[in-house]
Amino acid sequence: MPSEWDLIVIGSGSAGIVASRTAARFGARVLLVERHRLGGDCLWTGCVPSKSLIAAAHAAHIARTSERFGVTAENLTIDFARAMSHVRDAVATIEPHDSAEAFATLGIEVASGDARFTGRNSLEIDGTPHTFVQAVIATGTEPQLPEFAGADSIDMLTSDTIWQLDELPKRLVVLGGGPIGSELGQAMARLGSAVTIVNRNARILSSEDERSSAILQASFDRDGITVLNDRSATSVTSNDRLAGELVLDDGTRLPFDRLLAAVGRSTRLGKLAPEAAGVAITQHGYIKVDASLRTTNKRIWAAGDAAGLPKFSHVAGVSGSVAGTNAALGLRRKFNEQVVPRVTFTAPEIAAVGMAPVDAVEGKHRVYTAEHASTDRAIAEADDDGYAQIVVDNRGRVLGGTIVGPRAGESLGELTVAVSAKLTTSTLAGATHAYPTFTDALWNAAIADVQYRLQHGIVKSGIQLLARVRRATLGRTGR
Ligand SMILES: Cc1cc2nc3c(=O)[nH]c(=O)nc-3n(C[C@H](O)[C@H](O)[C@H](O)COP(=O)(O)OP(=O)(O)OC[C@H]3O[C@@H](n4cnc5c(N)ncnc54)[C@H](O)[C@@H]3O)c2cc1C
Repeated sequence: MPSEWDLIVIGSGSAGIVASRTAARFGARVLLVERHRLGGDCLWTGCVPSKSLIAAAHAAHIARTSERFGVTAENLTIDFARAMSHVRDAVATIEPHDSAEAFATLGIEVASGDARFTGRNSLEIDGTPHTFVQAVIATGTEPQLPEFAGADSIDMLTSDTIWQLDELPKRLVVLGGGPIGSELGQAMARLGSAVTIVNRNARILSSEDERSSAILQASFDRDGITVLNDRSATSVTSNDRLAGELVLDDGTRLPFDRLLAAVGRSTRLGKLAPEAAGVAITQHGYIKVDASLRTTNKRIWAAGDAAGLPKFSHVAGVSGSVAGTNAALGLRRKFNEQVVPRVTFTAPEIAAVGMAPVDAVEGKHRVYTAEHASTDRAIAEADDDGYAQIVVDNRGRVLGGTIVGPRAGESLGELTVAVSAKLTTSTLAGATHAYPTFTDALWNAAIADVQYRLQHGIVKSGIQLLARVRRATLGRTGR
């Protein structure tokens, strides 16, 4: 293997893979370094296994609640080990896309090992020296473990390790009421665990708007999940490092069979030694980048979670493309953080993009809501606890919105395109939508704005004029 490279990409998650592919397509000689498993967190411990587990949980939920359709599933049994083998099968099916062989077909070499910078244009991979013209840091983030008395005495599950479970914990305590704690907590509850979520914030998914959070809380209540808001753990005891008792700041004692920590993530720096290459770190511990994702070393770029961008696989991929292009072509393309769609894959899904309806300013913006309670598909599926809400400006341009409900993440695609392309509600409303779909709610919200504009301002005057002319013409011709 040569030791001098046009581009060395450190980390083979979504960011590193897309950076490598992009630069290789532009003709760069690329070395992709991975210390653990090719594919990164999204494939092994993030998006893919969590959505596969959620699919198993959804099947259990449908079976359990199918009576409303006149379908009775007697003696429901849930084989957790089989649910987990479905999860592993899904990962194994996708894994070949991210294999060294797949990268070789694109002309990308893969090195297995831990990368550590030794200078401004040099690094070692497990002790073997390499030099680079450019580099991309895409080392991702890792779960943080909470600190409280006795925390060292227990093997807490995290999003890294939960996938090794073959036995369902009867009582699962989840620390953290954010997206990861909510998704995994609800899935485990639907598969049969008695789940308690201990949440430091006043409500679950506190970074989403209050109504979304309240709808999800009601769904958690129906699933039998106990949510303890405004609470944090102060100590834990365990005899076997697995089961034990957690004590909260208000004195509540929570016995559990397993404890899952979902309290945040920190940059995976490990042995990377960015300081040896003159790469600065932000006060929050991320790789410091400018808008073009360049670090404080002109030769080195960063992308994905490690660069402190919103922690989503699609953001990692797009930022990897920006970093790979800039590195390979010497450009300064910018990463656009304004239009980043996000979905929490709970039931219901909570999806949002662009400007939040709560940030709308009266007189400058209008907000329209279409309820799933009046959306035919939602009624037909007896799953109508949701809505689509959009924010538009005075010219009718769609600035953002929130969708809550089944498959909200799918409907979000249309809203994302609208926000990204600065489409108007007239464009959305003018496109015929297939009926009956959950996207009808979004369509109806757009139609409501068009109707508003037809009844106000210059559009209203224009329509009145047209109508007058039409009446006069008909009067003259007598038709
Ligand atoms: C439970 C869970 C569910 C999620 N669900 C979703 C979802 O549904 N949708 C979504 O968009 N996002 C989801 N995410 C977030 C998503 O997984 C991350 O945003 C994404 O994986 C970040 O990609 P990345 O390339 O920045 O880093 P990573 O995927 O973390 O990849 C970094 C890679 O770098 C390697 N590495 C680190 N240091 C070195 C080194 N020194 N030398 C060599 N290699 C190194 C690591 O081993 C790793 O493979 C989820 C995350 C979790 C935890």
